[in-house]
Amino acid sequence: MTRLDKILSTQLNISRTDAKALLKKGRVSVNGTVTKTADTKCADSDIVTVDGEQIAYSKFVYIMMNKPQGVISASDGKGEKTVVDLLPDDMKRRGLFPAGRLDKDTTGFVLLTDDGEFAHSILSPSKHIDKTYVAHLDKPITAELVEDFRGGMTLNGEKLLEAEITPIDGDLTVCQVVLRQGLYHQVKRMFKKHGITVTALDRVKMGNLSLDSSLKAGESRYLTAEELDLIC
Ligand code: URA
Repeated sequence: MTRLDKILSTQLNISRTDAKALLKKGRVSVNGTVTKTADTKCADSDIVTVDGEQIAYSKFVYIMMNKPQGVISASDGKGEKTVVDLLPDDMKRRGLFPAGRLDKDTTGFVLLTDDGEFAHSILSPSKHIDKTYVAHLDKPITAELVEDFRGGMTLNGEKLLEAEITPIDGDLTVCQVVLRQGLYHQVKRMFKKHGITVTALDRVKMGNLSLDSSLKAGESRYLTAEELDLIC
């Protein structure tokens, strides 16, 4: 059960004060009856309308975005454009944040949610959710680099988990990399250790869920429950 003012504020992306003002004006009904009380508890099956229009309510949402370059994966970009800013108005709601970070110049799969517990569980270092990237490099990889990635390299004194690396279509300057952890600038730092610069990085998969190839850069869509299960 969820308070009515919380439902209004979340779904309409307005403050609780504005939600209470809507209620006071008699513009909100629950199951056909005008309701002015902010702390009315509603079940998921209750039908809430504002000015006669039904508002869909879901406790949490899970959104897949194809992040473009030049956008910050945070909810507050301190003046810079964020992935939350890119959401279309009808997807925006209070409390949305990206579960995990991509660098400003990295593109691809970002998961946005307002479910803190879920985000915490997929980001937990003990969970080891696979993240798959395609990395474009300024030089071809070497056998030594491949061995270091696959064996679990030591980076600045820290022993990393084993990572998969596979050249794509036999091109040694474009590789698929699968990491089981998400350290700061991890992919770029792993290549840098071998004197190679990542010139473009794209996240294509989280867990067993691939980025929807029909999403253009900057576009988003909701995930289904089945897709969510593929992440962890
Ligand atoms: N590794 C990086 O170096 N950058 C990212 O954005 C993600 C993983």
